[in-house]
Amino acid sequence: MPRYTYRFGAGQADGRSDQALLLGGKGANLAEMASLDVPVPPGFTITTEVCAQFHEARGLPDALRGQVTAALEWMAEATGRAFGGADDPLLVSVRSGAPVSMPGMMDTILDLGLNDATVEGLARSTGDPRFAYDCYRRFVAMYGEIVMGVKPDHDDGESRFEELLAARLHAARVDDERELDGAALGALVGEFKAEILKRTGQPFPEDPVAQLWGAIEAVVRSWENPRAEVYRRMNGIDRSLGTAVTIQAMVFGNRGPDSCSGVCFTRNPATGEPGLYGELLWRAQGEDVVAGVRTPEPVASMQSRLPEAYGELVELCNRLEHHFADMQDIEFTVEEGRLWMLQTRSGKRSGKAMVRVAVDMVGEGVLDRHEAIRRIDPDKLGEVMHSTLDPKNRPTPLTKGLPASPGAAIGRVVFSANQAEEWVKRGETVILVRTETSPEDIHGMKVAAGIVTARGGMTSHAAVVARGMGRPCVTAATDLKVDHARERFTVGKTVVAKGDVITLDGSTGEVFVGPATLVPASMSAEFETLMSWVDEVRRLRVRTNADTPADARTARAFGAEGIGLCRTEHMFFAPERILAVREMILAGDEAGRRAALVKILPMQRDDFLDIFRAMDGLPVTIRLLDPPLHEFLPQTSQDIAQVAAQLGRRPEEVAAAVAGLHEQNPMLGHRGCRLAMSYPEIYETQTQAIADAALLALAEGVTVLPEIMIPFVSTPAELSLLREHVRLVFDERLAEAKVELEYLIGTMIELPRACLVGDRIAEHADFFSFGTNDLTQTVWGLSRDDSGRFLPTYLDNGWLERDPFVSLDRAGVGALIRIGVEKGRARKTKLKVGICGEHGGDPSSVEFCHVEGFDYVSCSPFRVPIARVAAARAALRGEARGK
Ligand code: ADP
Ligand code: MG
Ligand code: MG
Repeated sequence: MPRYTYRFGAGQADGRSDQALLLGGKGANLAEMASLDVPVPPGFTITTEVCAQFHEARGLPDALRGQVTAALEWMAEATGRAFGGADDPLLVSVRSGAPVSMPGMMDTILDLGLNDATVEGLARSTGDPRFAYDCYRRFVAMYGEIVMGVKPDHDDGESRFEELLAARLHAARVDDERELDGAALGALVGEFKAEILKRTGQPFPEDPVAQLWGAIEAVVRSWENPRAEVYRRMNGIDRSLGTAVTIQAMVFGNRGPDSCSGVCFTRNPATGEPGLYGELLWRAQGEDVVAGVRTPEPVASMQSRLPEAYGELVELCNRLEHHFADMQDIEFTVEEGRLWMLQTRSGKRSGKAMVRVAVDMVGEGVLDRHEAIRRIDPDKLGEVMHSTLDPKNRPTPLTKGLPASPGAAIGRVVFSANQAEEWVKRGETVILVRTETSPEDIHGMKVAAGIVTARGGMTSHAAVVARGMGRPCVTAATDLKVDHARERFTVGKTVVAKGDVITLDGSTGEVFVGPATLVPASMSAEFETLMSWVDEVRRLRVRTNADTPADARTARAFGAEGIGLCRTEHMFFAPERILAVREMILAGDEAGRRAALVKILPMQRDDFLDIFRAMDGLPVTIRLLDPPLHEFLPQTSQDIAQVAAQLGRRPEEVAAAVAGLHEQNPMLGHRGCRLAMSYPEIYETQTQAIADAALLALAEGVTVLPEIMIPFVSTPAELSLLREHVRLVFDERLAEAKVELEYLIGTMIELPRACLVGDRIAEHADFFSFGTNDLTQTVWGLSRDDSGRFLPTYLDNGWLERDPFVSLDRAGVGALIRIGVEKGRARKTKLKVGICGEHGGDPSSVEFCHVEGFDYVSCSPFRVPIARVAAARAALRGEARGK
């Protein structure tokens, strides 16, 4: 008979932490804690196989029933309480737990096993009817929502049970549910049950066994609820994994004054600073902390009130962190002074904390350098480079909450997840402001630039999700009163309405009215240390795509080892230059074109000179003109008239030129080297500008390593001809100056044919740089500008795993690249090979380049550190595979 249940606690541990696939992360680690003699309430975990079977066959396996009954009996023995017993009943929680952490995405039910009879037993055995009815009202509300499906009245609204609770509080003239007595709570339970019957047509089930099976099935079903689906898609989690269900004896943080529930991290998850970091609520159950119903206290507040339990918590946290060799996120409850651990897992952290923790743990001897690099998620590094508020120009904050997720954000205020989505679709940048967030808000948090909540804490839903997504977030801005009905919030006398611009600083917790000035990030010492380890490990070089000296300098500060792509057309668009370019295009003959080009030459030369200076000692790849000429011409009749006036021509003449350059399909038209085949003087002038700039730089003592790149080659004839031309012009300039200088001439490979005839093209090239944006478009027959109409549907439905413009399509585009590299290197062993598409900064694509033996990747300046880490990780993985 297949085994569906694994027990833990009370001296037993059937599972281990490496069984997360079978037991879910929560179940596996509960078992591990039990085996380490950490105090966990006894329970058992139903395997993820049951969930998989349920969703395939739409039912729970028959053999499960007997195993659950036996495990419940074992729990009864271990706790000395009977499930459904009339005196001192055993209550349980029914918890969801996927193999990968999906915080708050699925459901958990607490205090199960209560009914009108057992609640009296609980009241008698504890001597505390208020406590017993507090558990009962919590349970009925959770059961009503999760199992019986009672929904809020409005989208984004409060739950029905919260509304009833609020009415009770109002009637009793108190604002804390802890001040309601047993009778009031009992009355509330009656109202809840009536509400369930009214809304669902079903009575609340009094039989604990029926409750249990209802809850198990609901948790299993919650694997496929819409918010879990969204979360899985966002995080690339396989839906076939399924959730485990853990059934565990309840411990009560809501009991007396010496009871509390809390969450703590073994280090600060926002900054990575060492030391216990957490929050708790006195007389509360764990759900209260996560949901942010009240503002919690720092975990250190336990120290004075319950020194022994606090000491034990500190000791256990250290032990768990050491055991798992990673920062832990721990849930605990203290029942009448006695500490219980309810969950431990690797803590989600900000990019900054990720770096700090990995580097610190090497210093502490817990990790080695390679393991520290493996712990870095390259994509998360982007956050470390987040901009922050300009310290010299900091406005006065409107209010201050908790610094829940670092980075600064500026945007227009919206008050619901749906509004956030609508506004972002219209092209607005928004900040989502809520009293508190719930998992239903996930789609809004995903599109918002930042999140502010009035309630909650560092470990509430908003904080955890925002850190995971790298969104700046402020929680517990308690002065901030959100008026959802009037779509505005107030802080004291200041009113901020929907659509108003605010700034938030997730690193300090401050919120400002209006847009503040931001400055780019600066690297921490830990970051530099990590990057030095990374550079020892990686083989692949990392260059940058930079068109301006400023970008080049930024990239160099981030560790770029050269420029892999400098696009010259951007230099043509500056207002004072475009006129000369237009003059060139409109010239009827070569002489006219040359006359205009002479005006462009000094401007281009100065650009190149500045870039050579910025990249002193490093290679600079300059791509000669690439886009079709019509991109430089005016399109509307108004603009045509204006340009005609500026150039002293008749508008009809200009209009005729525009019409003459019109192409059906410019992406595949007269562009790249094809232009130079028609008008060689364009590349000639550009080459002169590069050579002149190189000579000027040399004279200043700058080390110049120019690499001239000819784009859009499809036949060897193009490259052979243009290379010869470029060489003649360049050498002529050098000869005139009597200077010797090494330079390379290569090509950008962006057409399938160029890959297929790579050997013949390599004869004329010193390097290949794969332009994977165009190569992806041409291999797929897919225009990046038009793919937005249908590609998202492909991704949503899983017809396509990844967007080929984001992550290199290894099977298709990758196969063709491999052919190009093999053929090219077969003809020329020393052929330098790089990539300069958007993919150069995507970790998975970087790994591909490493495996294929590329010399370098080139990416945007802010992705340089990401590519460096990705290259090191690829090298470590290669080593592990023996490559
Ligand atoms: P989530 O995955 O949303 O964190 P959990 O299953 O961890 O859901 O449970 C939600 C909250 O309920 C947590 O704070 C947890 O500590 C608390 N909880 C779960 N089981 C028990 C239990 N047996 N006794 C007391 N509190 C519990
Ligand atoms: Mg939950
Ligand atoms: Mg939990």
